[in-house]
Amino acid sequence: MSEDNAEGVSATENVNSSAPLDDDEEQLAAIRMALKEGKNPFEMDNMSRWEDEEGIDPIVNRRVLELDPLPTPASVLKKLPLTEDMRNIVAYSRDELRACLYGQDDRLVVIVGPCSIHDPKAAHEYATRLSKLKDELGGELLIVMRVYFEKPRTTIGWKGLINDPDLDGTHHIKKGLLLARKILLDVLGQNLAAATEFLEPTSPQYISDAVSWGAIGARNTESQVHRQLASGLSMPVGFKNATDGSVKAAIDGCFTAAQQHTFFGIDHRGRAAAVETLGNPDCHVVLRGSSHGPNYDSASVRNAMEQVREEMPADSAAAHGLVIDASHGNSGKSEVRQAKVVEDIARRIADGEPNISGVMMESFLVGGNQKPAPLKNLVYGQSVTDRCLSWNDTERLLRTLADAVSTRRWK
Ligand code: PEP
Ligand code: MN
Repeated sequence: MSEDNAEGVSATENVNSSAPLDDDEEQLAAIRMALKEGKNPFEMDNMSRWEDEEGIDPIVNRRVLELDPLPTPASVLKKLPLTEDMRNIVAYSRDELRACLYGQDDRLVVIVGPCSIHDPKAAHEYATRLSKLKDELGGELLIVMRVYFEKPRTTIGWKGLINDPDLDGTHHIKKGLLLARKILLDVLGQNLAAATEFLEPTSPQYISDAVSWGAIGARNTESQVHRQLASGLSMPVGFKNATDGSVKAAIDGCFTAAQQHTFFGIDHRGRAAAVETLGNPDCHVVLRGSSHGPNYDSASVRNAMEQVREEMPADSAAAHGLVIDASHGNSGKSEVRQAKVVEDIARRIADGEPNISGVMMESFLVGGNQKPAPLKNLVYGQSVTDRCLSWNDTERLLRTLADAVSTRRWK
């Protein structure tokens, strides 16, 4: 049997097909039924699990319903490989990003796209529009599309396309992984580089070859697990300031991720592995505001950079500059304010303010947002997580940023 078949994912076309019920699935259905009836499934006589056979059922996995094996990263990458052109786009755009982050290229990095991807068709249309602008404004801006599949939640909520691709609580992660990868290939196929947030420590094995810029989110910037992860990622990584506004947490993230680490992970065959990393020198801070207010203003940037330079080497990407996220705590999650933040940053760039390596914007085809729901119930092209700028505003703001870079250049 081929590895793919053994893994239970024989072809992308089969992502939607429902395999015949085997013993495990019947048992799972019985467990779900028991739960529905208010019974404790682990006290049912006919529930024989590995834990029961080993005699450890009273103490192990008392709160785990199922461990459903996923396909290996190797099989997923083999099923949906990057073409040579796509590999070149990834490698080249990572180099371009590094050049901007270290100040060898005077263009402004712009990471722009929806807060989260939920619909392959809308993602495709967005990428088509953005790709045209990327070519047109490429002399001033290095545009990378936000292609975010994993959403960190303050409490509970839809956790993104990988976790729940049908947006209905079925959590079909196998399908989500393949769909996410297909979308990344589609974006690369339009000559656009992709940015994403890495949330689950093992998911990068399935998609990171297609990603040119990574984020560690505000809720994870202090997490050792995420800092270790960033130390082994092949692309530049931005650490967001913490939700309470702590920039030190993000700087510590950059410092930690630049070091060598050894930690728990999985290899390309999905085996538990001790991962040894070299450290990622291309990390930098992302200012995203906080629950206490914005931090996109000149004084906040200056203060943040003073702190960065106390901790990071003078020749590091972090010490050269930072990225300002115009959304989240910097806009109070209002797309109207987000536009004003971008306009303010553009004015400052035109005036020659240093230390701003990049700008992040949350944008989609339609402005605003809506509650997550199965696709057929949704407004096409509108965010199901944070409020986004409309396409028209996005286009206008990208042109404003490009003008600001050329003004600065010819001063
Ligand atoms: C995001 O980028 O959508 C996000 C969740 O960011 P943050 O971690 O800054 O909240
Ligand atoms: Mn968001």
